[in-house]
Amino acid sequence: WAFFSSLSQGGAAMANAGKTHPKYAWLNGKLVPWAKATIHIRTDVVNHGASVFEGIRAYWNVDEQELYIFKMREHMERFWESMKVTQIPIPYSPEDITKASVALLRKNGFREDIHFRPTAFVGVGEMYSSSPDEAEMGCFITAIPRPQKPTLRTGIHCCVSSWRRISDDTVPPRVKSGANYQNSRLAMLEARRNGYDNTILLTREGKVAEGPGACLFMVRRGVPTTPSVTSGILESITRATLIQLFRDELGMEVVERTIDRTELYSAEEVFFCGSGAEITPIVSVDKLQVGTGKRGRLTEKSQEVYFDICRGKNPKYREWLLPVYGRRG
Ligand code: PMP
Repeated sequence: WAFFSSLSQGGAAMANAGKTHPKYAWLNGKLVPWAKATIHIRTDVVNHGASVFEGIRAYWNVDEQELYIFKMREHMERFWESMKVTQIPIPYSPEDITKASVALLRKNGFREDIHFRPTAFVGVGEMYSSSPDEAEMGCFITAIPRPQKPTLRTGIHCCVSSWRRISDDTVPPRVKSGANYQNSRLAMLEARRNGYDNTILLTREGKVAEGPGACLFMVRRGVPTTPSVTSGILESITRATLIQLFRDELGMEVVERTIDRTELYSAEEVFFCGSGAEITPIVSVDKLQVGTGKRGRLTEKSQEVYFDICRGKNPKYREWLLPVYGRRG
């Protein structure tokens, strides 16, 4: 029994989780009250993580009283790629899911920064092999408030994980599937147990891949650098955005190449990027200070450029945004 009680820590945190929630979710074509957004416990998604999803942010612009979804089209493209690889076709189009997302955000009346997740899932079917003609495929969307974190300024402390990143020949990280996040979870749990905020996973070859839920950039000898899309990473939309913004707004070419672990120790700047993580400075790796130990100059500069665009304050990039309330007409 001692063994079992050692497994059940963190009950208090669990008791609090999920107490506050938005009013509505979207499930299989309908806006439904949060408590009614349920699927059966025998589904393949519940039992084996058979799902693919997107994590998308919407930014509240106080002056315009508008909520802007960032790069919806790119998220839908990746969502459909993930569905293709995992053979989870859903009876909806990218336009349907876009409209449903807008309707959900409106229905909840959000007037703050939001993170939402369209998820395509496999229903009840044959174990492991549920193909589109054997199991029902469905889709749901949940959205929650997600304010920006103070760590965008202060940064986080990371270790290099002893868990290796999943790879394209086993469970492909390019596909944003629910099951992938068991790899992320193991890595994150280890990092937190050992007193770190977050962690960096290496590929099986021992090269830098990405974080549990974000891609990685470093600035080394003045050059912004990031692992290539074949380095066991999710093809991050934020990563692609930053490569473009470094070029067009900061006049710097990002180099996409293999990164060694020890380069992280001698880099001037390291940061995570992602829809959720946004641009989060990493101020130490394995307890070795990165650069000055504070948010780096280029990290800060890229945050300024990125956040202005996300909040609709840079008209040049207006087409990256989808207004939820449409007050601008
Ligand atoms: N890698 C992983 C494993 C992620 O979960 C995320 C977040 N979706 C990212 C990278 C960043 O991707 P994106 O910029 O498209 O959000």
